[in-house]
Amino acid sequence: MIKEHNLSWWKKKADEEFSKYIRNKYADKNGLVKCYTCKHYGTIKTMQNGHCLPRQYLSTRFSDKNCRPQCYACNMLYGGMVVIFLNKLCEEYGEEFRYELEKEKYVITQYTIKDYQEMIEKWKSVDKKEEK
Ligand SMILES: [Zn+2]
Repeated sequence: MIKEHNLSWWKKKADEEFSKYIRNKYADKNGLVKCYTCKHYGTIKTMQNGHCLPRQYLSTRFSDKNCRPQCYACNMLYGGMVVIFLNKLCEEYGEEFRYELEKEKYVITQYTIKDYQEMIEKWKSVDKKEEK
């Protein structure tokens, strides 16, 4: 019998796949990933997916523009280094990006299991580098 998973299981699964996708996206051809907010380099496996706006905001939880690879220290010990994080995103996307994010924060977002499944399939279908 196939076990039916609930919404929170799929959300967790989506976090995992999205994280893999982001860490891969910014990895070089040797599988090395630079932390977005410090000088540290790590492998795809050891780096984490950092969120500029924290994960509690579902509207940007799975947004490419809100997420970059980070080392464990920046992501977990230094509160995500959000000031540097946001400043760097603004260098990439323009100054108005900080207001965009601020607005997106309040967009009510709900995902169904089907939404998560489709998102997961999309990230899975992106070519991945070899994980080390
Ligand atoms: Zn770092």
